[in-house]
Amino acid sequence: MRALTVLARRFVAGETAEDVIEAGRRLHDRGILASFDLLGEDVLDRAAAQRSARAYRCLLRAIPPELERNISIKLTMLGLDISEDFCLELAGRILEVAREVNGFVRIDMESSRHTQRTLEVFHRLRGGHDNVGIVLQAYLHRTEADVKEAVSRGDRVRLCKGAYKEPPEIAWAEMEAIRENYVKCAHLLLDGRNYPAIATHDELLVQDTLAYAGMQKIPAERFEFQMLYGLRPRRWDELVRAGYNMRVYVPYGTHWMPYFYRRLRERKENVLFVIRNVVRG
Ligand SMILES: Cc1cc2nc3c(=O)[nH]c(=O)nc-3n(C[C@H](O)[C@H](O)[C@H](O)COP(=O)(O)OP(=O)(O)OC[C@H]3O[C@@H](n4cnc5c(N)ncnc54)[C@H](O)[C@@H]3O)c2cc1C
Repeated sequence: MRALTVLARRFVAGETAEDVIEAGRRLHDRGILASFDLLGEDVLDRAAAQRSARAYRCLLRAIPPELERNISIKLTMLGLDISEDFCLELAGRILEVAREVNGFVRIDMESSRHTQRTLEVFHRLRGGHDNVGIVLQAYLHRTEADVKEAVSRGDRVRLCKGAYKEPPEIAWAEMEAIRENYVKCAHLLLDGRNYPAIATHDELLVQDTLAYAGMQKIPAERFEFQMLYGLRPRRWDELVRAGYNMRVYVPYGTHWMPYFYRRLRERKENVLFVIRNVVRG
């Protein structure tokens, strides 16, 4: 267990708010933005959901002013599976604190069991707040329509491929189909000019975004790239040097196993990294 904890440190900044703020500072010194994520999901206990919400409110207040107060939340950590109203209340209180400190809250997207409910809670929050954005997943068949709706509503979207195992009736599984839909949705979001976040480590998609933005004369300050803590750090610096906004998603906390597992599942190099380190002892 201890060895695994050490390995998880490649993808997770630490266990405490101080750890993650320190990681944010180091990124800031390199000109890189951060979104802070307290790890946790699938919470079915009200007290635990309340504790997570409190931890997020404290984090927002603890992030020093020179760093952007930007956090990513998962609604199942805030009790989405207990009650939508309960979750809405907890998320709403986080958004209030975010507003006080001039912060921004991104709602991560989870498995398809939660897609519709996550969007519903997002739309209800969005009614009273500008400082909230959503994530859409290119592997879902429904996403092109969701992207069009988000553009027409002026919502801020992070576009990713999607990290959960989904049935073939609702999601593409082949990389080519996912990439094709990603490109289509990314172009719609870039045309919408509502500061989309292009969240991928896939160089083909990064290159496509750079080419499309150049062709459509979309200035670099109108969108940002996002990558995960521990993945492609050299590329972060290159994109910053080339004048692009680069944000890194920085997770912290003790509930890192599901997140760590998703990272291993999506890329064999991440598994090799773990095996190499275990063999090395
Ligand atoms: C900021 C951010 C937030 C996210 N939020 C969510 C969310 O809310 N919900 C959700 O379901 N998913 C989320 N994800 C995860 C996402 O859905 C994908 O599972 C994950 O990003 C892997 O897909 P990919 O496009 O990055 O590249 P992959 O499909 O993993 O890789 C495709 C290709 O990209 C290149 N590549 C990938 N990684 C590397 C690397 N480390 N070094 C060099 N080349 C590499 C390789 O050429 C590889 O073949 C998020 C991802 C990011 C970056």
